[in-house]
Amino acid sequence: MKPVLDETHDPAVQSWVESANSPDSDFPIQNLPFGVFRRRDAGAEAKVGVAIGDRILDLDGMQSEGLLAEDNLRLALNACASNSLNSLMALGSAPRRALRRRLHAILRQDASISDRQAASRDLIAQADVDMLLPAVVGDYTDFYASIFHATNVGKLFRPDNPLLPNYKYIPIGYHGRASSLVSTGTPVRRPSGQTRDGDADPKFGPTRALDYETELGFFVSAGNSLGESVPISDAEEHLFGICLVNDWSARDIQAWEYQPLGPFLGKSFATSLSPWVVTMEALAPFRTPAFARPEGDPAPLPYLFSQSDREQGGLDLWFEVSLLSVKMREAGIAPVVLGRSNFHDMYWTMAQMLTHHASNGCNLRAGDLLASGTVSGADKNTRGCLLELTSRGKDPVVLPTGEQRKFLEDGDEVILRGFCEREGFRDIGLGSCRGAILPASAI
Ligand code: MN
Repeated sequence: MKPVLDETHDPAVQSWVESANSPDSDFPIQNLPFGVFRRRDAGAEAKVGVAIGDRILDLDGMQSEGLLAEDNLRLALNACASNSLNSLMALGSAPRRALRRRLHAILRQDASISDRQAASRDLIAQADVDMLLPAVVGDYTDFYASIFHATNVGKLFRPDNPLLPNYKYIPIGYHGRASSLVSTGTPVRRPSGQTRDGDADPKFGPTRALDYETELGFFVSAGNSLGESVPISDAEEHLFGICLVNDWSARDIQAWEYQPLGPFLGKSFATSLSPWVVTMEALAPFRTPAFARPEGDPAPLPYLFSQSDREQGGLDLWFEVSLLSVKMREAGIAPVVLGRSNFHDMYWTMAQMLTHHASNGCNLRAGDLLASGTVSGADKNTRGCLLELTSRGKDPVVLPTGEQRKFLEDGDEVILRGFCEREGFRDIGLGSCRGAILPASAI
């Protein structure tokens, strides 16, 4: 599972798609993320494509060009003749790697003339399409892998006992709701639910504590059979790639409902995803050692430990979350950054979460989505949600308009971004995950 570097990571290579060479493009030729798009023309079908600069290469079109003849490539490309990435995910890593290398060869500046001419016919402007969910997600699981987030949130709810005794042994998670996953740009309706103020009688109504959660999502590629676990040494072979996840949360509903069985309606009303899935191959240059456990913390149990995961299981990925209120939008003010955090601060790795998930024999399936939990670091400017940033509303955020926010208001838009950078390599990005809040429905 050691990340492999090859010619597709060479920072010197540029693309004949000029926009991909712009230093601020999230999608240079070193990235090549997969997604599902639909042209805005009437009757257009959902298709699988690869992002390159501000374009999409339509992989269905590529099939008819006959550019991808060898076996693994044909396998991968047949799987791309679909309206979701599930079939490509199910193939596992070898066909995906072969496809990446071939796409890199086709799109590089010095590609053969025939490759370049054929691919040119299948390029579409990203501005002309709607991006859809990348996969049909059978199951969505949300973890809680930031010890900083868990400690900060724990302090708010249990000042004397912030971190529960299981935290350093178990990658804590819960089963989320797959039906309410939405793609970037989909508006999010303020949920109503049951809340309780202090000792007053519980009541039902629109949440007054709507929050975002900045998270990393990772998709399962080849699954495991029911009854069989996944050794941690194989875990990354079961991962396809990553996206941004905003796990919207209603804190007042959550606080009243969460004991004893965990989050339920405070989370299940909507979860937003960025549309481009950055593959594990593209992430290879940005892998890091796993989080260094402080002196005195227990070592992971043997089933959650491998030397390779300890040395390369981490990921140097920056998240940025920003907010745009209606007043800011009207005044032409840019979104204000509320937090910047990094995945290398996460207590548990992706491999540990996946291996733990399957350790009881639970079968994970191609296209399942696992999310990391809120990505927060040690400092105040690294908080991945408003609950932490405002200390549950006690310390409101002041926006450039002078407006204050304890939690999200109707019309607020939340924008997540993610990017990797490392000296000696080309920066890559995850694109963005946006969502704006609609008023609650009448009860
Ligand atoms: Mn979450």
